Amino acid sequence: MRNDLTRRGFVRAAAASSAAMAWLGTGGVPTVFAAQADKPALLGGTPVHQAGWPRWPQWQQSWEPDVLAALRSGRWSGAGGGGRIAQFEAAYAKLLGAKRCVATASGTTALMVALHVMGVDAGDEVIVSPYTFIATYNAVLAHKALPVFADTDPETLTIAPASIESRITDRTRAILPVHIYGLPCDMDPINAIAKKHGLAVVEDACQAWLAEYKGRKCGVLGDLGCFSFQESKHIASGEGGAVTGQSDQLLDRCASYRDCGRAFGSVKGSGYFSHGLNYRMKHYQAEILLQQFDKLLAETQRRRENADYLTAALKQIPGIQPVRLPENSRPVWHLYPFRYDADQFHGLPRAKFMRALAAEGIPCSGGYHEQYFDGALDEVINSRAFKRLFPPERLNAYRDSFQEMKGNKLVCNTTVALFHSMLLAERSDMDHIVEAIRKIHAHSEALAKKA
Ligand SMILES: *Cc1c(COP(=O)(O)O)cnc(C)c1O
Repeated sequence: MRNDLTRRGFVRAAAASSAAMAWLGTGGVPTVFAAQADKPALLGGTPVHQAGWPRWPQWQQSWEPDVLAALRSGRWSGAGGGGRIAQFEAAYAKLLGAKRCVATASGTTALMVALHVMGVDAGDEVIVSPYTFIATYNAVLAHKALPVFADTDPETLTIAPASIESRITDRTRAILPVHIYGLPCDMDPINAIAKKHGLAVVEDACQAWLAEYKGRKCGVLGDLGCFSFQESKHIASGEGGAVTGQSDQLLDRCASYRDCGRAFGSVKGSGYFSHGLNYRMKHYQAEILLQQFDKLLAETQRRRENADYLTAALKQIPGIQPVRLPENSRPVWHLYPFRYDADQFHGLPRAKFMRALAAEGIPCSGGYHEQYFDGALDEVINSRAFKRLFPPERLNAYRDSFQEMKGNKLVCNTTVALFHSMLLAERSDMDHIVEAIRKIHAHSEALAKKA
C-alpha cells in the first residue's frame, strides 16, 4: 500500500520525464526523492554534479628547485638564445618530431614570426579559418595583410578545404589553417591546394600540442607551425610560444627575426643585425615549460580517454552531435565541443540549454562567435594604410564576404563546449556530464516553456 502510493506520487511527479518512465517499466520501486533528483536544477531539482572541477593552470612543487635556480641565475633574457631556451627548443622539437623549434614570447608572436618568414607583407592576402581565437586574425592584420576567411565545416569545426580555392586571388600568399580546440584540420587537401597555387602553409597549432594527423604531429604538417603556452593552454608558462618546422633555413630566419634580427645560423646579414623584432621567450619561462613534458603526455592521454567516453555516450542523445574527425587523426581537446540541435530539445534555445547545464554543475561555453562583425576588421580596413594598399572594390567585396560563411555561422550559433581541465576529472564525472544532458533532454519541453 505504502509502496503503491509512493509509486503513484512518483508517476505524477515524473510524468514529464521519459527517463523516469523507462525506469518504471523495469518494475522497480522508485521513491519521491528520485523524482526530485531527476528534475532539472534550473526548475528547482538537485544538480547532477555538486563537486567542483579540476582548476587550471596547475603548479607542482616538484618544479620549484629548477625554476628557482633559473630565477636566481640572473640570466633571464632570451637575447642570443642558448641556455634553457635552447634546451626547451630541442626537447619540444623532439616531442613533435619536428626538425627545429624556435621559442617566442607568445602564440601571437609565433604567428607574427612565421608569417613574416613565409613572406607575408603589406597588401597581401592570407586565407584563414574564421573559427579561431582573435589572435589568428590579428597576426595577419599586423602585417597589413587581409585575413580572407574560408568557411568552417560544421561537422569538423575546422576549415572546409573545398572553400579555399575560390578565395585565392593574385594577392594570396599563404593559407593559415587552425587546429581549433586541438582538432586536426584535414591537411592533405589543404597542402595540395597550396602546392598547386604556390602558397605557404602556416599552421595555427596554438591549441594543438601533440595532436596528430595521419601519424604526424600538428605543427609539422605545413611549412611552419605555431604554438602558444599561455596560461589557459595544455602546457603553460603564463605567456610563451614556439614556431616549429622541418627547414633549417626557415627556422634560422625565425630565430633571427624574433631576436631583433641578430645573426643566427645561416642568417648573417652584414654579420650583425638583419631586420627583426624582440619576440623572445625568457629563460625562466623555458624552465617552467621543461618541467611539464611528462605531465603533458599523461594528461593528453587522460583527456583523450575521457573525450572518447563522452563521445560514445553523447552521440546516443538526440540533438547532440560530437565532432567528426579527419581520417586517421587524434585530437587533444583544448575544448570538448559538440553541436546542439534545439529542434530535438523542443526548441530550447542554446543559451538556455547552457544555463540549464551550468545549473547542473557542468560549466560550458558557446565557443567563438562571428567575430568579423565585431568592428575590429572594419576599424583596420578603414585605416589609411589599408586604403592605400587595397583598391576600394576589394575592401567592399571583402566586407560582403562575411555574409558568405554559412558553415561558420551555423557553428558559431550551435556549438557548446567544455573546458579541457574537465576532461582531467574522474570517469564518474564524465557520467555526470552525460546524465545532466540526458536530464535536460528529457525535460526539454518544460524547460523551453519556462521563461
Ligand atoms: C592562444 C591562441 C593564440 C594566441 O596565443 P597567445 O599566446 O595568447 O598569443 C592564437 N591562436 C589560437 C588558436 C589560440 O588558441
